[in-house]
This record gives sequence, C-alpha cells and structure tokens, in this order.
Amino acid sequence: MTEGAAAYTPVEIAQRGSRGLAIRWSDGAESLLDVRALRLACGCAVCVDEWSGEERLDPASVPEDVHPLRIQPVGRYAIQIEWSDGHGSGIYPFARLRALGAGS
Ligand SMILES: [Zn+2]
Repeated sequence: MTEGAAAYTPVEIAQRGSRGLAIRWSDGAESLLDVRALRLACGCAVCVDEWSGEERLDPASVPEDVHPLRIQPVGRYAIQIEWSDGHGSGIYPFARLRALGAGS
C-alpha cells in the first residue's frame, strides 16, 4: 500500500434497482448500500457543521426517491455524488463507503 492510497478501492459501482448502490471492491467484497441512507450520510459542510460536527441535514427534506444522477471519482480516495435533490457537494471517501456497507 502506497502512502495516501485507500486500503480498498471500488472496481465497479452500479445502481441496483431504484434504491440500491452496489460497490464491488478491489478485494472481491461487495457492498450494497441504500441510496437514501447514503444521501443522509453525506458529511459535507452543508450537511454537517464543520466546527461542531452537528448534523444540519433534515432527513425530512430529502425525498424518499432520492437517487444519484452522477457519480464521479475524486482523486484516488473518494467519489463525488450528484443527487436528484440538487445536492452535489458530498464527497464519500472509499473508507466511509466501505464502513457504511459493512453493516448490511
Ligand atoms: Zn452534503
């Protein structure tokens, strides 16, 4: 592992049905994430207060059918998701995606 590289990297990211995002990892594992849960887990400065860590995103403001419109890589450690509710500043580091998918 080289410095700055994520321990796991996604080799494939695909939408699964209307609610699921399937990620296949470099070690062969697969995570199936609920897209709305992923939207609610956004850690950007708009959704989470940078100083206090307090969540500022009201779950009620996120539509039930929210889904990714565009997913693009950010460097070699994260993806950025542009959501159907107009939110596009959320960056999801691979380690966070991996952790979110570990419980399912
Ligand atoms: Zn956000």
